[in-house]
Amino acid sequence: MSAIDYVDVAWNVVTGCSNDGCPCRADCWAMRMARRMAENSSVQYRERYEGFKPAFWPERLDQPQSWKKPRVVFVASMGDWCDLGIKDSERRLIFEAMRKAPQHVYLFLTKRGEWQGEFVRENFQLFRGLRVWFGISVWDQKSYLAAVLALVTTYAAGRWISLEPILGPVSPANAETEGPERIDWLVAGGGSGRNAVPVHPYWPGMLHSYCADRKIPFYWKQWGEWGGYSAWQNAGCPRVENHIVVHTSLCDGSGVEMHRLGKKLSGCRINGQEIREVPDWWSDKMIFGD
Ligand code: SF4
Repeated sequence: MSAIDYVDVAWNVVTGCSNDGCPCRADCWAMRMARRMAENSSVQYRERYEGFKPAFWPERLDQPQSWKKPRVVFVASMGDWCDLGIKDSERRLIFEAMRKAPQHVYLFLTKRGEWQGEFVRENFQLFRGLRVWFGISVWDQKSYLAAVLALVTTYAAGRWISLEPILGPVSPANAETEGPERIDWLVAGGGSGRNAVPVHPYWPGMLHSYCADRKIPFYWKQWGEWGGYSAWQNAGCPRVENHIVVHTSLCDGSGVEMHRLGKKLSGCRINGQEIREVPDWWSDKMIFGD
């Protein structure tokens, strides 16, 4: 099982990340998880989890072969598979292992999108006939635009973007590409933890209408730490640690009240509706699968 609700299972053949420069690091779920695993693991494993250092786990290479029924597999949910601390030879072993279990759909996600594209181009023979979805994790308009540019030149069965945690308004229309290389799936959500940024309701609304217009599946994972007024009411108007008014970046300066409710009470509804779409064609497509 996986803690990520849109996949069936996580395959942590790589863990850890040395991505010091990203705003995500302050509230990284995988890093918190690794800390917990380091405390609860045997000495042999503890060393690999400690400090969230990039680590390759060769003893996990055979896991996909043991899952007989086709699954949606998230590769390296507890780290970044493109981290420079992982060797190219180790990355190739991951794809060779996937070739022995081609019945699954494999989702990859990285913060190092350009680098991912290069690796895929140099090793494209390894991906032939596999259902591999390459994604890039971003947080604002600038990183979104860079991700689109990197993804359109990346061979993939599907291309996706994860905007989580979203830290500001993003207009996908400003980074538009059409044709077969367009983005196939958009996942987004607010952050959790002490440093989480409140998500203005306008942000997911804008993403949802863009995706709905172009028939791109959109998955709104959660509001995160801060919930809107209706989530606060639905939760029975609890006394909360604090309230905040967040302003849009629109010229009218309109603001909405957000409440620090925690991830569970904030929920995942947009205008009363859960929007959790996944691409229903994702197991049909393969890279050069003729
Ligand atoms: S890139 Fe991903 S794994 Fe690395 S610190 Fe950021 S959120 Fe965590």
